[in-house]
Amino acid sequence: MTLALYNTLTRRVEPFTPLAAPPARVTLYTCGPTVWNYAHIGNFRTFLFEDLLRRYLAYSGYDVFHIMNLTDVDDRTIKAAAAAGKRLDEHTAPFVQAFFEDRDYLRIAPAHVYPRATQSVPAMVRLVERLLERGIAYKGDDGSIYFAIAKFPTYGRLSRLETRELKVGARVASDEYAKDDPRDFALWKKAEPIDEQVGAAWDAPFGRGRPGWHLECSAMSLEQIGKCCHAETLDIHAGGVDLIFPHHEDEIAQSEAATSKPFARFWVHGEFLNVRGTKMSKRFGNFLTARDLRDQGVDAAAVRLLFWQTHYRKALDFTDDALAAAGAGVKRLGEFYERLGRDGGRGTGDGDGGGAGGGGGRLADLAAKFEADFRAALDDDLNAPRACAALFEFVHNGNAALDGGAGGTAAARAVLDRAMSVLDILPSAKAADPALERWIGERLAARDKARKSKDFKEADRVRAELAAKGVEIEDTPSGTKWRLV
Ligand SMILES: [Zn+2]
Repeated sequence: MTLALYNTLTRRVEPFTPLAAPPARVTLYTCGPTVWNYAHIGNFRTFLFEDLLRRYLAYSGYDVFHIMNLTDVDDRTIKAAAAAGKRLDEHTAPFVQAFFEDRDYLRIAPAHVYPRATQSVPAMVRLVERLLERGIAYKGDDGSIYFAIAKFPTYGRLSRLETRELKVGARVASDEYAKDDPRDFALWKKAEPIDEQVGAAWDAPFGRGRPGWHLECSAMSLEQIGKCCHAETLDIHAGGVDLIFPHHEDEIAQSEAATSKPFARFWVHGEFLNVRGTKMSKRFGNFLTARDLRDQGVDAAAVRLLFWQTHYRKALDFTDDALAAAGAGVKRLGEFYERLGRDGGRGTGDGDGGGAGGGGGRLADLAAKFEADFRAALDDDLNAPRACAALFEFVHNGNAALDGGAGGTAAARAVLDRAMSVLDILPSAKAADPALERWIGERLAARDKARKSKDFKEADRVRAELAAKGVEIEDTPSGTKWRLV
């Protein structure tokens, strides 16, 4: 069996094959965060499902090239920068930094490139010029450049617009009289005073302005796959379901109208996340960011396991009980993993059939069965809930086998290591005992106080005191971080 994925474009689960055979390069583009504020865990559910996809492709032998953009110029970033009285880059920089910190906390594998919209403007200008030359883009009465949907007959293929009422997208420029057709969307928005005020305007042959959000992703993905693979077609484009229309529809239109080639072969979309039964909202008091979880001392492994336990195409409900249950699962897994190392280390018959089973040992047999189940589950449109069920069945039976003195621990551990390269849910080493964490918190506060009153001798003394207990600290712009070494 090979990996099959649900392709939004065809509304079917289809076998995934890249443009060439393995170990072929697979190009993966995922729409990144808009860095106007902190990303919430709904955003991170999408980024985590993309992490699972990417890691499983690598596990399956593909050489993945992962591109994630950072939207650092759009309506929201400009508005937020202006409200804060800052320049655009000044406003977005700390949120870019925060996004990378949150990514690392959640153990999301870094993309190979993170093109930023503000640093990719020349590629965007070139794409608009290509569309103007082909007569598919035009200048509206308001000086902005629009995409003529009437000139792109397959518009709506991804979102199946022909079968439902056409909704005008939220990010379409508001003045509809400037356009030939109210459905047309802005590729390039003429510079407004607020854009100039925050430094979000660029010169272009077709007029000073700034890119539209949809244009950013088309231009950055085409530029990056051109650089890495001399290609104009992505293997996989992923994002949240909320991006299907108009964002991804418009990305297809812009890219395919310019290149005359399919933009992406597979479109993969992840579902929403609810928190405690309802859609996450500041108004309902259930708005959660990744850093909230980190500050509460939640082990990222538990968050990952919780997310894996719901299929990516189903809505997920994030509740305290479910998180606690995932935490308990992670702990059980960690204990089993340690036990395999320990018992293997004591030499209880690795490969020598020291216990039941003979040959590779009972544990090796259980591990082989688990690995087959794990692969079958993930090959089936990334069925992570089933893969996790197989994992915990392995933990259960594996513990029983260990109790009986079975052999095959090294093989079992190797299989677990491979599975963890995808799921990555072993407990954090940092999950220290709560008393130690409290003590560290107190010591850090004391050091902070000493530094504020310029008593650096005392601050150094506290640092040494922490180091003596194996606590390494680091001062960052967002506060002092610590870890156990
Ligand atoms: Zn995008």
